[in-house]
Amino acid sequence: MENCLFCKIIVGEIPSEKVFENEWVYGFKDISPVAPVHILLIPKKHIESINDISEGDGKILEEISYAAKKLSNGKDYRLVSNIGSEAGQSVFHLHFHLISGRPLNWPPG
Ligand code: 5GP
Ligand code: ZN
Repeated sequence: MENCLFCKIIVGEIPSEKVFENEWVYGFKDISPVAPVHILLIPKKHIESINDISEGDGKILEEISYAAKKLSNGKDYRLVSNIGSEAGQSVFHLHFHLISGRPLNWPPG
């Protein structure tokens, strides 16, 4: 989608530190990490958020789950998606933050 930061990252128009890629999912390091491991997992298809998932998108969520499992390397981690600006979403292309490498408090605040 035009003027979407993450769509531009997927096609390489904006550089990123890629850590994972397959047919459905692109994974890269967050530019402002909040933990030693902070990866963003995004669908290659432009979807604004979980609220915009439609029938047939299940495979995307499955593949994001498998990518998270693989990239966590057996360590504990948090997998979180902010949905809507009041919840902290600042980029409106669905993404899951994979955060790991330090103790994580709950609730996050
Ligand atoms: P949100 O706030 O929407 O849940 O998460 C967006 C995330 O994207 C933030 O953690 C932010 O640091 C990250 N981000 C924003 N712009 C860029 C960028 O150009 N490159 C990378 N790698 N991450 C970005
Ligand atoms: Zn997009």
